[in-house]
Amino acid sequence: MTQSNETAHSSPHVMIPKPDELDLDLYQAIVRQGGICMQRCTACHAHTHPPRYYCPACSSPEFSFAPVSGIGVVYSYTVSHMSVEPAWQPHLPFLTLVVELEEGPRIVATARHIEVASVKIGMPVRVISEAKGTDFVIFWAEPR
Ligand SMILES: [Zn+2]
Repeated sequence: MTQSNETAHSSPHVMIPKPDELDLDLYQAIVRQGGICMQRCTACHAHTHPPRYYCPACSSPEFSFAPVSGIGVVYSYTVSHMSVEPAWQPHLPFLTLVVELEEGPRIVATARHIEVASVKIGMPVRVISEAKGTDFVIFWAEPR
């Protein structure tokens, strides 16, 4: 994944990542379908994230990007007290969570409406997406 600030959807100081290959396919599917999508193996139905060319469960190369609930629990987290990215500075301090989704895979999301002092491992959350143009989304995790 490379970075660019050349998209029409960003100010000159906001860097929007430009994903490629399977990552780009996943982000575009999420933007098209809304909500959260995840790679799902056509042969064994296992969900995989981030996407891979071959299913880690059965090695099949056949898959789709299927909608998932976004429901999960906090598996791990970190607190950012500073950021070199101007777009994130108004959100400081913010929580970056690893959320274990009910479909199995874990996904990295930024916490929203969760205070740093109140986050707990195992806390129920829902992951949602916010489109940034057609090729990238931000994953947010909110309490549920
Ligand atoms: Zn499989």
